[in-house]
Amino acid sequence: MSVWDEVTGQPEAVATLRRAVAGAHRGAVDPQAFTNSWLITGPPGSGRSTAAYAFAAALLCPVDGCGVCPSCQQVRARSHPDLTAVATETVIIDIKTARELVSRASRSPMNADYRVIVVEDADRMVERTSNTLLKAIEEPAETTVWVLCAPSEADLLPTIRSRVRSIGLRTPEVEDVAELLVRRHGVDADTARRAAAESQSHVGMAARLVTSPEAWRRRDRALDGVLGLRTVGDAVRKAGDWLAIAEEDGKAASEDRNEREREETFRSLGLDPKQAIPRQLRGVFRELEENQKKRAKRATLDGVDRILTDVQSLWRDVLMLELQSGVSPVNESRLRDIESAARASDPARTMASIEAISVARKRLAANVPPALALEELLVGYVGRHAQA
Ligand SMILES: [Zn+2]
Repeated sequence: MSVWDEVTGQPEAVATLRRAVAGAHRGAVDPQAFTNSWLITGPPGSGRSTAAYAFAAALLCPVDGCGVCPSCQQVRARSHPDLTAVATETVIIDIKTARELVSRASRSPMNADYRVIVVEDADRMVERTSNTLLKAIEEPAETTVWVLCAPSEADLLPTIRSRVRSIGLRTPEVEDVAELLVRRHGVDADTARRAAAESQSHVGMAARLVTSPEAWRRRDRALDGVLGLRTVGDAVRKAGDWLAIAEEDGKAASEDRNEREREETFRSLGLDPKQAIPRQLRGVFRELEENQKKRAKRATLDGVDRILTDVQSLWRDVLMLELQSGVSPVNESRLRDIESAARASDPARTMASIEAISVARKRLAANVPPALALEELLVGYVGRHAQA
């Protein structure tokens, strides 16, 4: 299976990157298709890093990213000697990391024709760091390829932006995500389609739903009864439920992620996860744990955010029905509730309920206690929709 098969629903981006790989070889027909510095942008869940590593694998593989050779397997494990993978979910790239990257970028590749450096969250580089990297990105060694990933071009310093060739990913189609879930996780087509729709084509979230029945149950619990709240008492109780669900969900998600990061850190240092940590590297793991602790404090808020995203999709379904848009609903399994909510409401009130979610998000960002922000939101729903 080719490494490109992993890049779901992005035919244009894949075509551009494949042309670049073809152009990267000596004596290529179209050398202009290749350049040394790239930026991959796209909405959350569109698969930016998947695309970046597919590109890296294809550049390093003797046969355009076959997906099965030792080189492709090493890229998948992030252990290829000519690949540097920088994932900074927890850490803002500091100046030390940046200098280390620049020094690696100047070395020649060991096995392949290129050395590839993937920076997964290039938007998290602070200005000082960016300037250190800038020179390296601006005048990369002929055999070094930089692949930066960020949500949008605007997230990078203009100086970097102007020096990279940019590729935009789009939100993949529900069908494409469903097909990937069937292929990667072996779930049946109906389950895959439902997960893809309910996660609104966010590949990572969709994968989480099909691999964690608990996560999926939490989503269902969060949405149960939201469209039918009739009293302030109901609203207050539901807000309490949401908070409990968000805590559970945040905790579960961060445990999964901590474990994954730990393994990735081992791999990126060339260590076996089962071996003891050499003394000189203990600092790296201490730093990782500290960052994970800091993030644990944010876990509940992340859980709240996921609930709000799901609730928004529910009201969007109501609105689409009211407008008779013919768009298929995100929450197909709740069609009866959605239909009766659409009958009881009208587009203006439904829009107001959708906008109230943005207001709640703003209040949360301004440090309003989640319990309060959620209660306000739900009490607002009762006021707006209880009297039909
Ligand atoms: Zn290969």
